[in-house]
Amino acid sequence: MSPLPEFLRTPTFFIDGAWRTGTGGVESAIVDPASGQVLARYLSPSAHDVDAALDAAERGFRLWRAVPAIERGAVLRRAAALMRERLEENARILTLEEGKPLAEARGEWQVTADMFDWFAEEARRAYGRIVPARSADLQQQVVREPIGPVAAFAAWNFPARNPGYKIAAALAAGCSCIVKPAEETPLTCLLLARALADAGVPAGVLNVLYGDPVFLSERLIASPVIRKISFTGSTRVGQLLAVQAAQHAKPATLELGGHAPVLVFDDADIEHAVGQLVPAKYRNAGQTCISPTRFFVQQGSHARFVEAFARASKALRVSDGLDAATQMGPLFHERRLPEMQRFMDDVMARGARVACGGRQQARAGCFWEPTVVSDLGDDALLMQAEPFGPVAAITPFATLEEGLQRANTLPYGLGAYAFTTSLRTAQRVAGGLEAGMIGINTAKLSHAETPFGGVKQSGHGSEGGTEGLDAYLVTKSISMAS
Ligand code: NAD
Repeated sequence: MSPLPEFLRTPTFFIDGAWRTGTGGVESAIVDPASGQVLARYLSPSAHDVDAALDAAERGFRLWRAVPAIERGAVLRRAAALMRERLEENARILTLEEGKPLAEARGEWQVTADMFDWFAEEARRAYGRIVPARSADLQQQVVREPIGPVAAFAAWNFPARNPGYKIAAALAAGCSCIVKPAEETPLTCLLLARALADAGVPAGVLNVLYGDPVFLSERLIASPVIRKISFTGSTRVGQLLAVQAAQHAKPATLELGGHAPVLVFDDADIEHAVGQLVPAKYRNAGQTCISPTRFFVQQGSHARFVEAFARASKALRVSDGLDAATQMGPLFHERRLPEMQRFMDDVMARGARVACGGRQQARAGCFWEPTVVSDLGDDALLMQAEPFGPVAAITPFATLEEGLQRANTLPYGLGAYAFTTSLRTAQRVAGGLEAGMIGINTAKLSHAETPFGGVKQSGHGSEGGTEGLDAYLVTKSISMAS
């Protein structure tokens, strides 16, 4: 018997304000990674389904852009209130399909609701300006307008937050949106669509489709209806979509992979650093793009830090996310297990020290032990490629210059962290780390009111903050002679 509510047992798409079964004929399953149980089965989308969503988004855009910003904001605020009202059921479904502990699933829905509230306000602040003209008979205005229908591709690791950030900003700006959640975790996105529909978003303004990602992304990006691409996911897939977007001269906001460095200086409060970094490392079983992963700890504190970090890692309760006592759930999919093994094979071949973990747990489900590795060279696979799992590599460094140079050596630049009690060191690392988001003495980087985004191969553009609305606006300059 499926633990899902009736309307999610045979999940459908959401097109033009209606729930529609896919007409592509191929059946796929959505699986609980903690138990391996099939939660639901859905039918794939056909070209006809995609075109129906595109037609709806085109009509939805014409209608929605004409709705005053203050009214659009009121609808988004109602949707946020519904998400909070439905928190318990929504969180349970998120945990079932993605695996993260219930407390994290609740937190994710809360930040998603926060983001809708934030953009409900920002909708009213899409200001233009009057530019002093060169002659008395001329008036020059600059106005900001919604860019048009958006194709939004969202990753599985935050099934509410990833699509939610895109929808909130796009709808606040006056755009319509076709969202493609990951094919493995679409149920949470359907709950988002339900909240928005119940809050009064008109038919066609928001549409949700999922299934074969290559087919969907190619058809959506190539359509002349779509004016903007937004993607959250791996650098590999982001690069593919960026090429497709460029072929059609469409702008793309890309939120891609990271491999976050941490610099812990000898003058840091080690207990505080471990207290911040352990939950951040194992959040969503390490499957977050800003997960701290490459730990550079100054020589004088290295042994103490490894010991404290491993002790806290071993103490974590790893189990089914639905169990209220669970602190870390399973990896989201069985395909992540051989990936973790690949990293550990390289660690073992190099003879590095495994301070704890390093293996799949001996039980059913996709559970990997919280793992701490030390004394690993910077050329190891784990130091070069993003593990996207519950693995921390801790290595010593001597000077600030060396730490910065090693932290910046990869082509990624999303999150980065430093722990120090020296103001001078804090200022130098804040300026010197090549990353879009930096936490000094904190591992909390993501809030509705601050921009979230990367540099280098971690992507470009920001979600959240005042920058988040910009991604869905275009600038029009109007010169008017009397
Ligand atoms: P993956 O790259 O195989 O698949 C990730 C997702 O990409 C899938 O859910 C799929 O929907 C989507 N995808 C694949 N091909 C696509 C295409 N042509 N068009 C549109 N979407 C497409 O990786 P995985 O094994 O699921 O996850 C591991 C890697 O993914 C990690 O190394 C990590 O970098 C990355 N990732 C990053 C984020 C993030 O928040 N930045 C989120 C999830 C995954």
